[in-house]
Amino acid sequence: MFGTVPLMAAEKPNIILIFSDDHAYQAISCYGDSRKLIETPNIDRMAREGIRFDRCLVTNSICGPSRATILTGKYSHLNGFYNNTNSRFDGSQVTFPKLLQKAGYQTAIIGKWHLVTNPTGFDHWHILPGQGRYYNPPMIKDGQPVQHEGYTTDLIADFSIEWLKNRDKSKPFLLMSHHKAPHREWSPALRHLGWDNDRRYPEPATLFDDYANRGVAVRDQDMTLEKTFTPLDAKLVPPPGINAEQLKAWNAYYEPRNKAFQDAQLAGKELVRWRYNRYLHDYLGCVKAVDEAVGKILKYLDDEGLSKNTLVIYSSDQGFYLGEHGWFDKRWIFEESLRTPFVARWPGVIPPGQVNAQIVSLLDIAPTFLEAAGLEVPADMQGRSLLPLMRGQKPQDWRKSFYYEYYEYPTPHRVMPHYGVVTDRFKLARFYVPQADGSKPDPDYWELYDRHKDPLETKSFYNDPAYADTIKELHAELDRLRHELKAPATPPKEAYGNLFMPKKNKK
Ligand code: CA
Repeated sequence: MFGTVPLMAAEKPNIILIFSDDHAYQAISCYGDSRKLIETPNIDRMAREGIRFDRCLVTNSICGPSRATILTGKYSHLNGFYNNTNSRFDGSQVTFPKLLQKAGYQTAIIGKWHLVTNPTGFDHWHILPGQGRYYNPPMIKDGQPVQHEGYTTDLIADFSIEWLKNRDKSKPFLLMSHHKAPHREWSPALRHLGWDNDRRYPEPATLFDDYANRGVAVRDQDMTLEKTFTPLDAKLVPPPGINAEQLKAWNAYYEPRNKAFQDAQLAGKELVRWRYNRYLHDYLGCVKAVDEAVGKILKYLDDEGLSKNTLVIYSSDQGFYLGEHGWFDKRWIFEESLRTPFVARWPGVIPPGQVNAQIVSLLDIAPTFLEAAGLEVPADMQGRSLLPLMRGQKPQDWRKSFYYEYYEYPTPHRVMPHYGVVTDRFKLARFYVPQADGSKPDPDYWELYDRHKDPLETKSFYNDPAYADTIKELHAELDRLRHELKAPATPPKEAYGNLFMPKKNKK
């Protein structure tokens, strides 16, 4: 029988969160993207031996805010971390690692942190400063700067396993193994250069989206392969921190291809197509190392006999565009950035091979871990434990709608602030730019998306009279959610990053 045996204090499970940065579900084979971009056997193994959530949504689709939400189980407007421009995490808040630590867990975070202030609630922390880099990363280990040689994804996996090996085996553990990859600039490991044999990738239907039938926000963004892609993104220059020996192998792959590209003098759609293929080679190459890192940790658990009593989750801080709408990056309430991969394995508790279509969220991670450890979930956490869903139960009162918020503007990427409500079928969102003097936002307008009629989200139906009743209902639901979640009518000015305070706390 699964999940019917109460957990005794002595049997507290170990918990591992393997978390990556900007990993699109389209780039995980068990999620079944029609382009068949990549095989990820280790993440797929977790899904096969556990559960895959197909609609895990993020609260605010960028790095820092998502991480703050995971730690606190709260939206940005309550945990105070709104954007990557000038937010600083208030480490005095209640977080799940602190609660686990207090309950006797040994806790560690290794890899990407990205919350500016030092980690709290961890017995051990070994983090990348800021975004970190892909090669030979400087890191900070329990407060001390250290310099490493090697490829960052491999190092994070190795440091994670080293910590597991040296832990106090009399205590349960929490390990957060957090990758930088596959974040921009998408620099693969040397062993993965050319991994795709110069494949020409199938194009998404919206690669050349003209942004018609939607408002100014979609037209005004700055995240296209066409206009925003830099020489570093394109690997026309090598990644920061790479050493002479690594550079030789790097150049052996890129130089002849870059020369052919420069000789071809591409323009217009052909240039976008070249960038799309270069981007996918690099991005997916980074994913390969992440999947291998997952495999290393699963193997360690197998070798040590720890698999059965360890809840392992693989997820990412948000989704990502792999050419859809002509984009890379994230931020939007639209599906590719709103949805993030989420698979979980806990043999004996999570029946294997499940696929769950309910709306779940990274908000739910903290309550899930606390309940798994037999601890009380603080009443002010805004998520809900996923354990019932993981056990295969179907709670009648599970959420049918979800609140989303995004603030950081105008840099980077000029994605206009917006918030909205998401259901299985619809998205109702308000796009707006607040004004410094507190006058009416400008622009300020609403959009409605219908994923049944328009799965690629290429049209707003907000002004279609046929949707009048739906829009009325969604407005009421959005008001209800904003009230329940304590979303402020007027967020503080610092929420918007550079919009009002362009000089503050540049990292
Ligand atoms: Ca991210």
